[in-house]
Amino acid sequence: MSFNIIQTTVLKDQCIGCGTCDAVCPVDVLKMDFNSIGMYEPVESEGCLDKCTLCMDACPFVEENKDEKELAKNIYENEDNILFHKDLGYFVNTYEVHKKDTAERLKSASGGAGHSILKNLLEQQFVDTVLTVESNNDPDKLFKFSYFKEMKELEKIRGSVYYPTEMSEVLDYVIKNDGKYAITTLPCFAKAIRLAQEKNSKLRKRIKFVIGLVCGQMKTKEFIHTLAKNAIGTDRLKTVNFRVKQENRSAINFAFEFKSIDEEKVNRLSNADMPSKLWGSRAFTPNACNSCTDVFAHCADIVLMDAWLPEYTKDYKGHTLVVARTNEIVNILENSLDIELKKIDYKKVFLSQKPVVDNKNAIFYGSKNIFIHNINKHKLQIQKLSNENYELNKPVINILFNKIRQIQKIHSFVILPKRVVLKVFRILKGSR
Ligand SMILES: Cc1cc2nc3c(=O)[nH]c(=O)nc-3n(C[C@H](O)[C@H](O)[C@H](O)COP(=O)(O)OP(=O)(O)OC[C@H]3O[C@@H](n4cnc5c(N)ncnc54)[C@H](O)[C@@H]3O)c2cc1C
Ligand code: SF4
Ligand code: SF4
Ligand code: SF4
Repeated sequence: MSFNIIQTTVLKDQCIGCGTCDAVCPVDVLKMDFNSIGMYEPVESEGCLDKCTLCMDACPFVEENKDEKELAKNIYENEDNILFHKDLGYFVNTYEVHKKDTAERLKSASGGAGHSILKNLLEQQFVDTVLTVESNNDPDKLFKFSYFKEMKELEKIRGSVYYPTEMSEVLDYVIKNDGKYAITTLPCFAKAIRLAQEKNSKLRKRIKFVIGLVCGQMKTKEFIHTLAKNAIGTDRLKTVNFRVKQENRSAINFAFEFKSIDEEKVNRLSNADMPSKLWGSRAFTPNACNSCTDVFAHCADIVLMDAWLPEYTKDYKGHTLVVARTNEIVNILENSLDIELKKIDYKKVFLSQKPVVDNKNAIFYGSKNIFIHNINKHKLQIQKLSNENYELNKPVINILFNKIRQIQKIHSFVILPKRVVLKVFRILKGSR
């Protein structure tokens, strides 16, 4: 029997479904399909080559492969003026960014830096094709990666997609068609592209820009189906907008908007209600995310994230924090006419994601803090039970939700004196 990605990754439940193995297979025996929990994974047909290792070489979850930090070192270490932070990775500058035009800004997930950089790359012909995720109007596959050559096609491409997508078709397109490409990716997808580029000269030469999104976790299709049933009574959807900004509320309190396939039912769920509870509890999180500590997409040329800091979250219109790892990206950003851009301290950018970093590390390495250890123990049970059968396991899951809430309450009480001291210290420091 041939030995390939199915044994190293899929059967160990470590596949995130990026589709890179499918794209690089020279005999096309891997095909991406949804598995029983609603995540993509490769399915093998006959014909795998005995001495071939290409799918394994490109997989971000094969342990023997270089990790994201090693890959990033090779790419960015020799940039002029490069700096390094152990969590942020390599960077030349860090910024707060938002679109100048408010109507434009409101369409994006955060401040619109994502849409702006893609627009500028295409308009100024740094690339001729953008690869990113679009709504697919198919209830069984709500979003997919596509390629875009015209600025007007990119108009509707904004927002965050908390739904599985895979890159096999667009990477195949790059391999078959010469050109200059930019692609938007989650950190593990960026790592897969860099690994594939080491072996595949066409991907190396043609993918000019990798645009990363900070990521705490992905969700299976069932996450959206469960929320949709609660919001509009059906999971046969035409589309979901995951980031509807709500006027006069905190930027964190955006809404998910669901539209049924016949467009008759439309409703929103505020993030503060069911979405955030399911998000934070690790329900519907794929198992591969438990093996990932890359928050800041170390292998991407530019990294975008929400400005989860008090001075920004009070503005519902949204701000993007940006890590720029190359001087070319710095030049493009600093000459973009459609955005307001301010350099900010890299430590602030790190602080905005510190809870995500802490959480990923505690899941991966474990935590010595007894409260966090127990909270995560329950979260991992919720993850397992929700991926087995959420509806059937709901009573147990609700008990686990309550246990987590109780531990969180006690934890908050225990750390209250420390928080008060820190707050007083910050006030005194600020008044000096
Ligand atoms: C699964 C996921 C988890 C995230 N977790 C965090 C987090 O923990 N903390 C945080 O600060 N930010 C997180 N983000 C990033 C954040 O939600 C915004 O995407 C980011 O701030 C950029 O906003 P923007 O307004 O600048 O981009 P926009 O102008 O809205 O443009 C975003 C671009 O990214 C593309 N895109 C959206 N989703 C995907 C996807 N899944 N794969 C590939 N491309 C995509 C869009 O098509 C669009 O081109 C996450 C995003 C995703 C998709
Ligand atoms: S080992 Fe080679 S031929 Fe076999 S599935 Fe992987 S890429 Fe394809
Ligand atoms: S390359 Fe991507 S799709 Fe293929 S096995 Fe690895 S994680 Fe899964
Ligand atoms: S948490 Fe890691 S493995 Fe999971 S989707 Fe995000 S980057 Fe990929």
